[in-house]
Amino acid sequence: MKCQVIMNAMEQLAPKSLKEDWDNVGLLVGNPEAEVKRIFVCLDADEANIEQAIRKNCQMIITHHPVIFDGIKKVRTDLYTGRILKKLLVNDISVFSAHTNFDQAEGGVNDILANLIGLTKIKMWEVGGETICGRIGYLEKPMTIEEFANQVKQGLKTDYVRYTSAGERMIKKVALCSGAGACFLGKAAFSGADAYVTGDVKYHDAQHAVEYGIHIVDGGHYPTEYPAMLDLAKRLEEALKEQGEIEILIDDESRDLFNVI
Ligand SMILES: [Zn+2]
Repeated sequence: MKCQVIMNAMEQLAPKSLKEDWDNVGLLVGNPEAEVKRIFVCLDADEANIEQAIRKNCQMIITHHPVIFDGIKKVRTDLYTGRILKKLLVNDISVFSAHTNFDQAEGGVNDILANLIGLTKIKMWEVGGETICGRIGYLEKPMTIEEFANQVKQGLKTDYVRYTSAGERMIKKVALCSGAGACFLGKAAFSGADAYVTGDVKYHDAQHAVEYGIHIVDGGHYPTEYPAMLDLAKRLEEALKEQGEIEILIDDESRDLFNVI
């Protein structure tokens, strides 16, 4: 199957028009004309995943995080970026990244996250006419922050979540943003959410949450995003099955970079 056919299917699942202005998405390494027999789906095209793709004989990698993000002014193969680019080119592997466009797409990362943590009536998150990269949803019945944090932990099948408490406030309305979304905390509070679910929350964000009177559940960057890649692999397989022969493999070796002892 031509790489271009897969790119077209990805455009249906994560339209480029949904990306944030600062983002870098699409085919970032490779050639649309290249022949692909096997696709490898993962969160990051880091060295371990590229080696996994080479070992599993894949010709294309689909990632969430862009393999090239900032501009490149040199390709030094003694440094990390040059080394992984060389590995990709020498092994004739293309990389396609669907980042904020896949976060925001229908059935994308934020929708998957909303489903996994048990939200219903999930809708786009709009504040004063502006669309925020996230979702708003509701719990079936009100919960305490301890109950909800536990539900998020179970839903994401992760070892731990961190949460901050805004006291006795019961949780019914929830705002969320997968990955690193602490920047939207104020918008979550303004939207009337009782709790905000995201990853990569810092101490000062937690202080602001207490000031705003909103609970936070930090599910972690990796745990709030990785499950969507499993789902993407299935949906891509479905979208491509009529188009020719293709096999889709998922990264089943990577783990969250953070460990807890
Ligand atoms: Zn991310």
